[in-house]
Amino acid sequence: MDLLNTLVDKGLRRELPTREEALAVLATSDDDLLDVVAAAGKVRRHWFGRRVKLNYLVNLKSGLCPEDCSYCSQRLGSQAGILKYTWLKPDEASEAAAAGLAGGAKRVCLVASGRGPTDRDVDRVSDTIKAIKEQNEGVEVCACLGLLSDGQAERLRAAGADAYNHNLNTSESTYGEITTTHTYADRVDTVQRAHAAGLSACSGLIAGMGESDADLVDVVYSLRELDPDSVPVNFLIPFEGTPLAKEWNLTPQRCLRILAMVRFVCPDVEVRIAGGREVHLRTMQPLALHLANSVFLGDYLTSEGQAGKADLEMIADAGFEVEGAGEVTLPEHRVTAGAGGGCGSHEGAGCGSHAEGGCGSAAGAGCGSHAGGGVCGTAPEPAVAEQRTEPHTEPHTGPRTDLVAVRRRGAGTDLAPNA
Ligand code: SF4
Repeated sequence: MDLLNTLVDKGLRRELPTREEALAVLATSDDDLLDVVAAAGKVRRHWFGRRVKLNYLVNLKSGLCPEDCSYCSQRLGSQAGILKYTWLKPDEASEAAAAGLAGGAKRVCLVASGRGPTDRDVDRVSDTIKAIKEQNEGVEVCACLGLLSDGQAERLRAAGADAYNHNLNTSESTYGEITTTHTYADRVDTVQRAHAAGLSACSGLIAGMGESDADLVDVVYSLRELDPDSVPVNFLIPFEGTPLAKEWNLTPQRCLRILAMVRFVCPDVEVRIAGGREVHLRTMQPLALHLANSVFLGDYLTSEGQAGKADLEMIADAGFEVEGAGEVTLPEHRVTAGAGGGCGSHEGAGCGSHAEGGCGSAAGAGCGSHAGGGVCGTAPEPAVAEQRTEPHTEPHTGPRTDLVAVRRRGAGTDLAPNA
């Protein structure tokens, strides 16, 4: 297919595809799906080999959020029966982090529900970061605490944070339909603050909220313009008790096309499969490793993932290898131009949006160099109103509520974590 040959060539050069090319990836047929995966897989292997980075979520503070993000089980008024607890102590968080690191993770994503941290919260998280770093040599730490105010990113950086996650989640034009208590511009501002403070920026999206293909392309192009080091891709977990509980719009094939599109638009960035991996990709998860180079190990913020051991077996069976602590995640040009190593998610996976993949989960642009310029610095084309299409729908197997399990172990409980 000419389209795929063009996209591979552009991906190897870090050249921005056209919007039409990105939309065409989302519109490919199931008959062409393996060709799409193979093409995006060439780009993935060029920049990241067969390595898979493992990240581990620690939910420092769960539920009780005053914000109204529709997708989130921790939102204001959520009736989801999730764990609710206030700040973990530094030693409790460090213990949880150690379990993930022992399971093979190299990054710990510290996530807290809420609009944004107070200065006292930043002190608490700073103490937690120091405790984790003292007890676990070489660990990368990403914080995901919501919207940042003046000086907070700098203080987190000074405490040893390597990265900060805050997701854009969806397109600017539809953001107001998803959340009313803060704006898309607020989110962009926080990603820029993290970047400016020398933190590795992590910012991603949530698919499956009823958006159109054009919305998905919009948000990924906006991410490329923001230039994060890591882009978590969350697949909505429609929690009972939240406004989006009935939004079962995704198929495994759709998820693979979305991941391929993200890889083509952000070729040299850490693309992470975040919340919803097990629920929506299901038995197709191994194919997704040809597109993404990063996953969360074990459980998400408020829902349970598959056993950490199963994650490791899947990676080995699919012919990939877990990235070691001594290996550098990002291609050399990004490491020398930027801060660090890319981040995580809040949802089910990581915050940034606390959508389970939160950190990075719920989980950039200029996907190329932080230095700007070159093909990667090419400004994305503006969103084109006439390209707006109806919400994407396709036949699917129906709600898989049987695959959604509220987290009852690990941080905030007396039970051992899944790692
Ligand atoms: S995504 Fe974050 S800010 Fe939004 S409701 Fe959930 S915890 Fe609160």
